[in-house]
Amino acid sequence: MNKTKTGSEVSRRDFLKSAALAAAVVPAASFLMQACTKKGGGGADIPEGQKALSEKDPVATALGYSEDASKVDVTKFPRKGTAEGAKMSCMNCAQYTALNEGWGKCNIFAQGVVTAGGWCNSWVAKA
Ligand code: SF4
Repeated sequence: MNKTKTGSEVSRRDFLKSAALAAAVVPAASFLMQACTKKGGGGADIPEGQKALSEKDPVATALGYSEDASKVDVTKFPRKGTAEGAKMSCMNCAQYTALNEGWGKCNIFAQGVVTAGGWCNSWVAKA
């Protein structure tokens, strides 16, 4: 038996396909927009041609790197939870070289640039 689809069945199928495609595309587009417009600690855009260090990078994770120093897990990195630790961020670390107000290079991470307001457990006071 050859069943012919009615107009409403075809349009329902098309709608479901479109909805599934949108569900896949919207998060990807959102991620790309975020990556392109990522702001550093000072609210500055990431310098052209640079890539942000991912907090999920294995070395970054091991050293507790966070783009936002106030969000460091102090149970894992108690040094950051001290009064001295509260003042630590990439911008006042000896390993940091500013590229603009919000981003800079870190001697520890060649994989990407770090935020001025970030922190990791390799923090060393600037001389
Ligand atoms: S070493 Fe210093 S500049 Fe590099 S991520 Fe850690 S705190 Fe930031």
